[in-house]
Amino acid sequence: MKKLVVLGAGCGGTMMANKMRKNLDRKEWAITVIDKDNIHDYQPGYLFVPFGINTEKEIRKTKREFIKAGIDFVISEVVNVDWDKQEISTATRGKFQYDILIMSTGCDTHPEEVEGLAETWGKDAYGFYRYDDCVALKKGLAQFNGGKLVINIAEMPIKCPVAPIEFAFLVDWHLHERGIRDKVEIEYVTPLTGAFTKPVATQILTAAFAQKNIKITPNFALGSVDGERKVLQSYDGTEVNYDMLVSIPPNFGSQVMIDSGVADPMGYIPVDKYTLQPKDRDNVWVLGDGTNAPTSKAGAVTHFQADILEENIMAFIEGRPQHARSDGHATCFIESGYGKGYLIDFNYDVEPVVGQYPFPAVGPLGLLQDTELNHVSKLLFKWAYFNLLLAGTWLGPPALQLGGKRLDMIRKK
Ligand SMILES: Cc1cc2nc3c(=O)[nH]c(=O)nc-3n(C[C@H](O)[C@H](O)[C@H](O)COP(=O)(O)OP(=O)(O)OC[C@H]3O[C@@H](n4cnc5c(N)ncnc54)[C@H](O)[C@@H]3O)c2cc1C
Repeated sequence: MKKLVVLGAGCGGTMMANKMRKNLDRKEWAITVIDKDNIHDYQPGYLFVPFGINTEKEIRKTKREFIKAGIDFVISEVVNVDWDKQEISTATRGKFQYDILIMSTGCDTHPEEVEGLAETWGKDAYGFYRYDDCVALKKGLAQFNGGKLVINIAEMPIKCPVAPIEFAFLVDWHLHERGIRDKVEIEYVTPLTGAFTKPVATQILTAAFAQKNIKITPNFALGSVDGERKVLQSYDGTEVNYDMLVSIPPNFGSQVMIDSGVADPMGYIPVDKYTLQPKDRDNVWVLGDGTNAPTSKAGAVTHFQADILEENIMAFIEGRPQHARSDGHATCFIESGYGKGYLIDFNYDVEPVVGQYPFPAVGPLGLLQDTELNHVSKLLFKWAYFNLLLAGTWLGPPALQLGGKRLDMIRKK
């Protein structure tokens, strides 16, 4: 019996295990998925918890319920990855040998990495990148009746890089709804040069920040947080004061990958950005937030990557050439409050532009346009995630489609 082992039963690991179970003969291949716990959160739903739009029941499920019959699900922390011996060690369930390894152990936030931040976490500083943080933030927001609310990204990369923008827009809307927006100053403090990384999207989103009266403070390299004085301090000595801080702390990949010598110092596994394989490891594939591929760390990206991996792993097993290539394709909704949202679609080479998606001229979704349909689609996507994506369903070509995009907006390099 040959062995395929999947590390991580989050978004990428669950999709891959289910896809491979559909493809591989049960008499020939055993599939084992290993994860440290049995909680599967729909992470895009975290954003809505502080505003009472998503509840725990709606976004928090068990991992086991999404893993298909015929797959062994092992709940234990991975404590070592040995690519030479083709062996995974776990904290409580011993060692697992593999013929093929798929890794999708994601990344996580680390407030303790910023001087002073952990000490003030949950007092005047909050987050929304973990479920418990979202619950604390909901309580904090309910008690916040005026003053300066600062949203800060400590450093890049972070997962879902548009989520802080969405939070800024939603909190503006939420404070309007409560009738206290005029009592609150909102400031968006970012290490980036503007609202986003690419010119067209930055221009459109910067205008939206201005229209919502949210100040952007760019190029802010966070050095420390002084919880007593309630100030952010940058490495160059600049200070930003706050009454309430919503922080996106540094994101790192799994520590075990660093300890096993398979990751860079931030815990991200170096891969070829097109094949998603580490150098000289022909039986190992990595997807999702845990790679160093230069695209967004997003579930949508992970989903497109999974289609590439499925094709190439089957080609590897059947001795065929591996033709599929990841283009870094990302499709992300950006909630803007007031029942509307934007949509961006881009890849390694093509930045987000205005247009129609998924069909040219018809849409019906508008790229970089603030529409109600984008908002409704974002809310409906939760159903698709739990019922289609995790099951490994093919939802269309994984590569970015150029049709329907205003490519004339992209400046010639
Ligand atoms: C606030 C927020 C909003 C988001 N919004 C969006 C959005 O709108 N659209 C979008 O596309 N994406 C969004 N995302 C990102 C999306 O959720 C992730 O990109 C996606 O979950 C990545 O999948 P993954 O498999 O790489 O990691 P995960 O889904 O995080 O899974 C990693 C798994 O590995 C396990 N693991 C880690 N270390 C170990 C270990 N040592 N041993 C055993 N198991 C281990 C973990 O327990 C976890 O189950 C958002 C994320 C956040 C936090």
